[in-house]
Order: sequence, then C-alpha cells, then structure tokens
Amino acid sequence: MNENIYSEIREIKQYALDHKVPIMVDQGIDFLTRFIEEHQVKSVLEIGTAIGYSAIMMALSSPEVKITTIERDQERYMEAVKNVKKFDLEDRITLVFNDALDVEIDGTFDLVFLDAAKGQNIRFFEKFENNLAEHGTIITDNMDFHGLVNQEEESMSRNLRGLVRKIKDYEEFLKNNENYEVKFMTIGDGIAVAIRK
Ligand code: SAH
Ligand code: MG
Repeated sequence: MNENIYSEIREIKQYALDHKVPIMVDQGIDFLTRFIEEHQVKSVLEIGTAIGYSAIMMALSSPEVKITTIERDQERYMEAVKNVKKFDLEDRITLVFNDALDVEIDGTFDLVFLDAAKGQNIRFFEKFENNLAEHGTIITDNMDFHGLVNQEEESMSRNLRGLVRKIKDYEEFLKNNENYEVKFMTIGDGIAVAIRK
C-alpha cells in the first residue's frame, strides 16, 4: 500500500468517528483480512456495509477477492459508493442498497460476514447460509458488543438488555449448530467464526 492509500483509509476512519459510524476495530480488520489471505477466500457476502470501510479493507487484502455488500441506510450507502470509487474498486465491490432481510442475493460465497443489526443475527445466518459455498465460513462481528455481553444486566436500559440477550441467544444458536465448527475469538469486539463441516 502506498502513502496515498493510507491517507484515504485514515480519512474514512475519521469520517466514521465524526459521524458515529460503528466500523470494525483494527484488531477485527486484521483478523478478517488475514483470514481471507490464509483461506484464499475469493468471494465475500457482507451484511452491513456502513460506509464501505471493511469491504474496502477486505478488497485491498487480496487482489483476487470480490465482495458483495448490503446496506439499508441511504446516507451510509451513498458514502460507501463514494469511497469505493475513490479506491477504484467498483469492479470488485458490489454495493446493494436494501434491507438484507428483504433482498435476494444470487450466487454462493466463500465467506459470509455478518456485521449489521446485532439482534437479527440468527435471521441473517439462516437466510444467508443459503448463499454459502460448501465448506464456507460465516464470520460475525461484535459478539462482545463493546464489552456489554459480560456486564451486569441491572446496569442496562431495557432496550440494551434485550439486545444483549439476543447476542447471547445467537451465541447459543451457534454453539448448538452441528453443521458448523464454531470458534469464538476474544479479539476486537469479539468475533465468531463458523466453518461449515
Ligand atoms: N461492516 C462495516 C460496519 C457496519 S455497521 C465496517 O466495519 O466498516 C452496521 C451497518 O449495518 C449499519 O450501517 C446499518 O445501517 C446496517 N444494517 C443494520 N441492519 C441492516 C439490515 N437489516 N440490512 C442492511 N443493513 C443493515
Ligand atoms: Mg461491527
């Protein structure tokens, strides 16, 4: 990567900070991009584009990888369109503006990356495993949800408590899913890796 790319990436991260867009933390991105390299992932379906940061980082990690990514928020989607253009990655990143639960995606992918509404992960998983390659992997971000998953529930608002419970339900769902080999990584904001057997 040259200096110019680094400064473009810094700009995207600054935008995320200024606009409170919850992009993946550095440790998480490192894990994800290394996973793509090590497993020679060629195709990724991402749920939750936000402004395109993680999609761009994945695309930069390997010249062979193609990404399809879904975002339902128009402002973020527009920002993602702009960012993908900046990096000349339009040929490898396909941006879909829609609610992931309402859209049908064609084809299969080596990796499905779930990084959208944290309370909907079981639904995303069950829907998009239909797009997963035979021994493909489903990676989920924010399994620790900013450390809240292991905190006392009494200290939380009702909404937050509900969300934290859903994340725990999803964790159980993964653990009990016999079709996948599942690992929980305590890196970044908590990452679950489910490899289909
Ligand atoms: N993957 C991004 C961050 C995504 S933040 C990165 O690391 O750079 C989560 C995004 O998911 C938000 O922008 C939110 O609008 C989007 N989202 C949440 N639920 C969604 C749904 N059902 N369909 C599509 N996008 C959704
Ligand atoms: Mg995330």
